[in-house]
Amino acid sequence: MIEADDVGGVHIKYLYHCRRQLWLYLRGVRPEHLNGSVQLGEAVHDTSYTRRSPVDLGAAKLDFVDGRHWVHEVKSSARPTPADQAQGRHYCYRLADIGIDAQGAILHYPKTRRTHRHPYTPEAAHKAKADIAEVLTVAAADTSPTRLARSACRGCSYTDYCWTE
Ligand code: SF4
Repeated sequence: MIEADDVGGVHIKYLYHCRRQLWLYLRGVRPEHLNGSVQLGEAVHDTSYTRRSPVDLGAAKLDFVDGRHWVHEVKSSARPTPADQAQGRHYCYRLADIGIDAQGAILHYPKTRRTHRHPYTPEAAHKAKADIAEVLTVAAADTSPTRLARSACRGCSYTDYCWTE
């Protein structure tokens, strides 16, 4: 069973996208290699920030932290999502946990050349902690959460798994 310290950015992303996705992922279902959008995400990482090294915090691996302690994340999507923001504050939470005064997350969207800044406030810290607790709640469920509406599944790497009767 997953522990609070094992919760990483992928868990947080799936929590916000779809609880069923998180539940399946936690049980070892990994169909990502079938999905084009994940490969695109990897390609964006490869070409946009080749001079940076990812920061490894154990369960959480973030793109990089600048000298002023802002977390930077490069996103393959065109538009920001609540999941992106939640991941950013999760990384700040993990950094704060090891004594680094994280200032917030700067999310980069190369496709649209936009950046979004999310300061790490006490409220964000509280939300980050609540998100981890929520991941543990999903993990503890005996049965898989229900599917989202089909329209919300577009692009999800688990579509075949969930929708092949
Ligand atoms: S296909 Fe839909 S229901 Fe299944 S994990 Fe993905 S978003 Fe959730």
